[in-house]
Amino acid sequence: MSNETIDLASKELWDRAKNFYLSMLQSQDERSQIERYLSMVTTVAKENNSFIIYTSNEYAADFLRKNFSEKFKNCLEFASGQKDLRIEFRFDKNAQTAIIMPEIKKVVQKPKPGKVSTFTSTMPLNEEYTFDEFVRGPSNSFALAAAMGAANNPGKSMYNPLFIHGGSGLGKTHLMQAIGNELKKRDPSLAICYLTAEEFLNEYVNYLAIKGLPDFRTKYRSIDVLLLDDVQFFQRGKDIQEEFFNTFNALQQQHKQIVMTSDVAPKDLPSIETRLITRFEGGIVQEIESPSYETRLAILKKKAEGMNPRVPDSVLEFIADNIKSHVRAMEGALSKVSIYLSSFPEIIPNSEILSHLLKDSIEKEKTIRKLTIEEIQNSVSNKYGVNMAQILSSERTQSIVTPRQLAMYIARKYTMKSLPEIAKKFEKTHATILHGVKSIEKRLDVESDLKATLAEILAEFGYKLSDKME
Ligand code: ADP
Ligand code: MG
Repeated sequence: MSNETIDLASKELWDRAKNFYLSMLQSQDERSQIERYLSMVTTVAKENNSFIIYTSNEYAADFLRKNFSEKFKNCLEFASGQKDLRIEFRFDKNAQTAIIMPEIKKVVQKPKPGKVSTFTSTMPLNEEYTFDEFVRGPSNSFALAAAMGAANNPGKSMYNPLFIHGGSGLGKTHLMQAIGNELKKRDPSLAICYLTAEEFLNEYVNYLAIKGLPDFRTKYRSIDVLLLDDVQFFQRGKDIQEEFFNTFNALQQQHKQIVMTSDVAPKDLPSIETRLITRFEGGIVQEIESPSYETRLAILKKKAEGMNPRVPDSVLEFIADNIKSHVRAMEGALSKVSIYLSSFPEIIPNSEILSHLLKDSIEKEKTIRKLTIEEIQNSVSNKYGVNMAQILSSERTQSIVTPRQLAMYIARKYTMKSLPEIAKKFEKTHATILHGVKSIEKRLDVESDLKATLAEILAEFGYKLSDKME
C-alpha cells in the first residue's frame, strides 16, 4: 500500500471516527497509550464493507486488533452511518517508516511552550479556514468583523454569543473555523470544540447509551470555546434543545466564547424554543449575504492562486459572471476548469467551451438560489419608492397596490415558497395572494412597462423572465 493510493474519503472517515473515539477518553494515560498505537497507522482504505487499517508494524496491528476492533467498529459505524462494517488491521510492509498521522505526531512531539490543550475536537478544524484565506467584501464584512472581534477577545466581548447566518456555501463554516484556528494559534492551551449541531446530537445520544449524561455534561461544560455549526438542525428535537440550553448557560456563566451558525436568522428558526432564540440573540447576530461580482472574482482569484496550470483571468471572470449564489459552487467550477486546463494545455477555453463545461453548475444555479420573500419585498419597494409598511398594509391606492401585488407575483412564480409561507410574510390571506398574482398575470399580457420593470427586478437577482416556474 503506497502513499499515492490514500483514499481521502476513508481518511476523513477515519479521522472523524478516531477523533470521536479520543474525545470519549477521559484519562490522559489512556489517551497517550492509544495515541502511541494510532501513530503507527500509516493509511486506511475502505473496500465494500471492510475498513482496513494499515500499521507500520506487526505488533501494532495485533495490539489494535485485539483491544480496539470492537470500539473502532462502533465509532466508524457511527461516523459513516453504515452498519455491519468489518474492521481489519493489517501490517503495511511497504510503509515501515512512513507515518501519515500528522495531527498525532504533532501533539506528541510538540515542544511545550506552555500548556497544550488535551481536548480533542470532535470534528477537526480545517487548517485552511483562516482569516487570511477569507476574502472580505460588502456581503460578509460585518460577519468577518464580528468573527475577528470574537477571536480578539473570546468570551468577554459583546460578540458572545456570536451568531452567523446565511445561505449555504457562503462561508459560515469557514469564518467560524477561522475563529477556532486563530485562537488555537494564539493560545494552544485553549480547549476549542468545533462540531455541527447534528454531531452534538449524535454525541449526546451516544453518551446516553454508553457513558452516561454526567460525562457528556462534564465534557461540554469544561471547554473554552464552543463552535457549533448549523444549529438549525436542533429544530428536530426537544431534548437536545433542553440539553443545549443548559450547556449554553453553563458556558456563558463562565464567560466562554460561543459561536453558532445557521442557514436562517434566530427569529426564523420556527421550531426552536423562544428561550433558546433569546439566548442566541443575546450577543451579536450577523448575516453573510451572497457576494457581489467583485467579491466573487476576488474569491476566485484567491482560490486560483498557485494553481498549475494558471487559470486565465477570462475564465475566472466567466465563472464569477455565471455562478452567483454559492461560493462552494464557484470552487467546484474552478476545479473543473483546472482539470480541463491540465488536459488541454494548448487551449484557452472561450465562453462557448466554458458554458458547455460548466453547464450543470450554471443550470443548478437557478434552482439553488433561494430568494427570500423579504429580498423580493425590499427590491420591489425600492424600485417603486414605497416602504415596507405600505407593502404590508391594506392600502388600496394603485401606486401601492401594484408593487405589493408584483412582489406577491415574484414570490409565487420565482421561488419555491409555499402559499401559506407567502401569505404569512405579506400578512394576508391565501385568497388575497392568489388574487394579487392573477391580477399581475393579466396585466403583464398587456402592459409592456410593467413587464420591463419586472425584468429589471428579476435581473437584480440574476433571473430572466423565462425562469418562471409553472
Ligand atoms: P457555509 O458553511 O456557509 O455553507 P463554507 O464556509 O463551507 O459555507 O464555504 C464554502 C466554501 O467557500 C469554502 O471552501 C470556503 O472556503 C469558501 N468561501 C466562502 N466565502 C469565502 C470568502 N469570503 N473567501 C474565501 N473563501 C470563501
Ligand atoms: Mg457550513
